[in-house]
Amino acid sequence: MAVDRRPLIAGNWKMNLDHLQAIAFTQKLAWTLRDARHDYATTEVAVIPPFTDLRSIQNLVEGDKFDLVYGGQDLSAHDAGAYTGEISGAFLRALGSTYVIIGHSERRQYHAETDDVVRAKVATAIRNDLTPIVCVGETEADLAQFGPSSLPVAQLRAAIDGLSPAEIVVAYEPVWAIGTGKAATEDQAQQVCAALRSALTETWGLDSGDATRILYGGSVTSSNISALMRQPDVDGALVGGASLDVIEFSSICRFLKHAV
Ligand code: PEP
Repeated sequence: MAVDRRPLIAGNWKMNLDHLQAIAFTQKLAWTLRDARHDYATTEVAVIPPFTDLRSIQNLVEGDKFDLVYGGQDLSAHDAGAYTGEISGAFLRALGSTYVIIGHSERRQYHAETDDVVRAKVATAIRNDLTPIVCVGETEADLAQFGPSSLPVAQLRAAIDGLSPAEIVVAYEPVWAIGTGKAATEDQAQQVCAALRSALTETWGLDSGDATRILYGGSVTSSNISALMRQPDVDGALVGGASLDVIEFSSICRFLKHAV
C-alpha cells in the first residue's frame, strides 16, 4: 500500500441478497463503520450488489448520507438497444454507481467472456463515467504452466489495449484462491501486483502506473488483510464471501486499526 493511493475495500456480493436484504445489510454496515469511526478518507469502502439492489442502495446512501460507494458486477458492452437482459453503463451511472466489475473469473468461465469482450466493456465503462474494476487472474493450471504473473499481465494488457489512460482499478484475483479459503500469500500477491503495475506503466505511462489502485482478491479475511496491505503494490481488496458478513467485512475495511 503506497501512502498516496487511497486503499479500496470492495465487497462483491455476487448473486446474494435481494433488495430488502441489501437495505438491511447496507444499513448495518454503514452504522457499524460509523460506530467504529471509520475514516473513509483513509480507506474507501464499496459494495457491489446484484443489479436489482442498486436503486434501494442508492436511496439509502443518498437519503442517510452514507459515505459508502457502490457499483455493478458487470455491464453491457453496448450503450443501448436490442440486447435483452443487458444493463448499460448509462443505467448504472444514473443510479449513482461509482464502480463496475469487469472480467470477473466467473464471467470469463460461465459466460465465455473473452479478453476482447472485457476490453469493450472497459471502454464502455470509461465512456459512461464509471471506474472499471478490471479483474485478472490465473487458474491453477495456468500457474503451473506459465508461472505467476504472465497470464494476469497478458489479460491486463488486452483489457486496456488501444485505450487512452483513464482511471481504472485492477483486481488481481487468482482463480485458485477464489472461494477456496486458500488465499495467495502476501509475497505472491505482491509479486503479481508489481508486475501488473509495471505493465500499466509501460502501456499508459508512469503517472497511470503510480496512480492506479491494484487490489488483491481471493479468500481475503480479517486475518490476512493486514499482511496483504503491507505490500507496496497491494492497494486494497476485492472481497467475495467475507463481504456478506457485516462484522467480518467491516473488520477488513478497518485493517489499519488492527495492523500489527
Ligand atoms: C471474488 O469472487 O471476487 C472473491 C474474491 O471471492 P472470495 O473472497 O470469496 O474468495
